[in-house]
Amino acid sequence: MTSSLVLPSSLPVLEPGWVWLVGAGPGDPGLLTLHALNGLAQADTVVYDALVDDRILALAAPDAEMIHAGKRGGKPSPKQRAISNRLVDLARDGRKVVRLKGGDPFVFGRGGEEALDLVDAGIPFRVVPGITAGIGGLAYAGIPATHRDTNSAVTFVTGHGVTGDVPDGLNWQALAQGSPVLILYMALKHMGEITRRLIEGGRSPHEPTALVCSAATENQRVAVTTLADAPAIAETLDPPAIVVIGDVVRLRPALNWLGALTGTVLEADPLGNRSDREAG
Ligand code: SAH
Repeated sequence: MTSSLVLPSSLPVLEPGWVWLVGAGPGDPGLLTLHALNGLAQADTVVYDALVDDRILALAAPDAEMIHAGKRGGKPSPKQRAISNRLVDLARDGRKVVRLKGGDPFVFGRGGEEALDLVDAGIPFRVVPGITAGIGGLAYAGIPATHRDTNSAVTFVTGHGVTGDVPDGLNWQALAQGSPVLILYMALKHMGEITRRLIEGGRSPHEPTALVCSAATENQRVAVTTLADAPAIAETLDPPAIVVIGDVVRLRPALNWLGALTGTVLEADPLGNRSDREAG
């Protein structure tokens, strides 16, 4: 934190024996909330997941103990129960604990499970929401989650069920037919299967699809394609990635503000209906 940054004095104190379950956002430290920054400044113990950006970890107090709780990409990962037990033990030791998770702790982040374990153990906690990758990460690719001209609904889907396969409990046909925009987390590995189910369910193979990798980090990559071609592209990319399917993707050439910072010329009116907007 720079010395010129003064947090409001009304922000809460992180008391010993408490756990704050904090969302770190998708990457860019500027997307942290003031509550997150305030928690990091006070914590003596930070338990963080693999997806949390190093620039955010650097905002913790210099003498805080930094505990890495998560591994990714097929490597062994500590059991969820072990992480919860660790949080409980740290709190019982009187530590001031920030449990830092990528994005939002309650969006495909198992934050609810950890919070329930804290409740069971009688540990007091606070939840600090974060900007989820499926919204903030897309915004960094110039793709809005909703747009008046394209969709009045959006669905967040995980491509990775408890068994590691494409979730079976989902009605893919209903998703294909009912949701104009689908935002998929953890979907890179199973894009072939997901695409097949959506197209069988009635989705057009030509539908615009974007794969946004390491969104809002220094390694952000965006691939724009069609639903049918997405699996082949997915094979060439590295996680983490958000996949977005729907007409909102067509707005990227106009709204790629990050690209514009480095010289990309933005296209006006990619949907071709500005006159409608003015009329409406
Ligand atoms: N709680 C997180 C999601 C955790 S699940 C959130 O709210 O964002 C992990 C998945 O999130 C990844 O597989 C990927 O689909 C997505 N994700 C997280 N950070 C990302 C990033 N910076 N860029 C792209 N996808 C990201």
